[in-house]
Amino acid sequence: MENIRVRFAPSPTGYLHVGNARTALFNWLFVRKKKGIFVLRVEDTDIERSAAEYEHQLIEDLRWLGLDWDEGPDIGGPFGPYKQSLRMDIYSVYTQKLLEEGKAYYCFCTPEQLKKEREEALSSGKIPIYSGRCRFLSPEEAMRRLEAGERGAIRLKTPDSGTLSFNDLVRGNLSFDLKLTGDPILVRSNGRPAYNYAVVIDDSLMQITHVIRGEDHISNTPRQILTCEALSISPPQFAHLSMVMGKDNTRLSKRHGATAVAQFKREGILPEALFNYLALLGWAPPEGEEVLIKDDLIKLFDLEKVSRSSAIFDYDKLHWLNRQHIKRLPPRKKAEIAYPYLKKTEILPEVMTEEHWKWLERAVECFLEGVDRFADLPEKFALLFDFSPSDMDKETREILQSESAALVIKLFVKKISKVEKFDYPTFAAITQEIKEETGYKGKSLYHPLRVAFTARSSGLELDKFIPLVEDGAKISFPKPLKDCAQRVSEMLEFLQ
Ligand code: GLU
Repeated sequence: MENIRVRFAPSPTGYLHVGNARTALFNWLFVRKKKGIFVLRVEDTDIERSAAEYEHQLIEDLRWLGLDWDEGPDIGGPFGPYKQSLRMDIYSVYTQKLLEEGKAYYCFCTPEQLKKEREEALSSGKIPIYSGRCRFLSPEEAMRRLEAGERGAIRLKTPDSGTLSFNDLVRGNLSFDLKLTGDPILVRSNGRPAYNYAVVIDDSLMQITHVIRGEDHISNTPRQILTCEALSISPPQFAHLSMVMGKDNTRLSKRHGATAVAQFKREGILPEALFNYLALLGWAPPEGEEVLIKDDLIKLFDLEKVSRSSAIFDYDKLHWLNRQHIKRLPPRKKAEIAYPYLKKTEILPEVMTEEHWKWLERAVECFLEGVDRFADLPEKFALLFDFSPSDMDKETREILQSESAALVIKLFVKKISKVEKFDYPTFAAITQEIKEETGYKGKSLYHPLRVAFTARSSGLELDKFIPLVEDGAKISFPKPLKDCAQRVSEMLEFLQ
């Protein structure tokens, strides 16, 4: 079998976006299934926009998502370095060769000249293409101008007519009119290789067999194939993935919500959920299963079944998948993931005892049922830790104004004060007594009591709430947890 090698080649000019993460993931699934090699290459030739911070974050985000690579800037490999800024000498060798063979030429056109040409083309309704003005400068003339201190870019000589076709593994046969390609810049006048050039040399030297990337690169592909031809390299196979869009069918952006992988991580989306979701962006397994783990995805993934139409990023579906993956985790793991979110809002202590952990496991289990992401937990835990009758909302106050409320709460305070150990069965026994004594039942009995315990009109069922609060009140927290007796008597005081 052919040795399959793919690469993910991000430019460290920003945080890893879900669109790019999906590209990385499709490459990874494809190559893991084929038992090939996954290469990570950092494309940092744009020095102004590249930053080390982004590069570190990128590696961290890819690892968090659950991807690993066999060769890369952090682990090395037989075809390194895996960072373009460290490969400048390699590119120069090929540039020299192309110049000597007359396949490339110096271009001294100024940015102003090029801009003017572009504007003229656009205003007469033509596609702006480089005019080829410097193509016919003799090498001697070019040398003379360079020696005189002029700085030139280097362009590839490309055919003026004809078509170039390639078979895209996702999109089928694609043809391009070479009239519209122009002579692409290989090396800029500052000596830096252009993306379209460095990528060809690197893909070839790194023996990449399949280039799987975003559709935004389709128009680059003919230029890259022409560069391959000039260098007598056989091009890799290409697969261009459709773009990731928001629900309104525009390119997914901050307007739609989170877009950076790091942001989903901060929100408490599990990596396995994001992984699962990204895999389904533009691809579906044959039986239409949705909740899938990595091993299933590797088995089922098929690049040729990837859709050509754009993929819509659906936050609700991601949240649903997150809930499904959360359910699969053991209780301690859920508590461990929840912990930093709750510590940050000073609900939980810096040092957790085993007693804290046991309690947290139970609490997290109760609250996770109603949340999509771990970042939503502190708000839910406020039900336990923020008991403040003076901050009740209008709806809650109205419950307290009902005919039964004051009496029910008063009786409850009296009865609970006589109880040694309060728990849910005791609660049930006390409410039964009050029911018999007052004749109140249903809403008029239970609603005032819910408010008396929580200072809220809704929340956890009391059979879950009461044991959590009673056991929690015996443990020390940064902000003490009040037990039920304390709550009801504070509520009674507030009412009086
Ligand atoms: N550095 C390019 C990017 O981030 C890579 C494109 C490619 O895969 O060829 O868009």
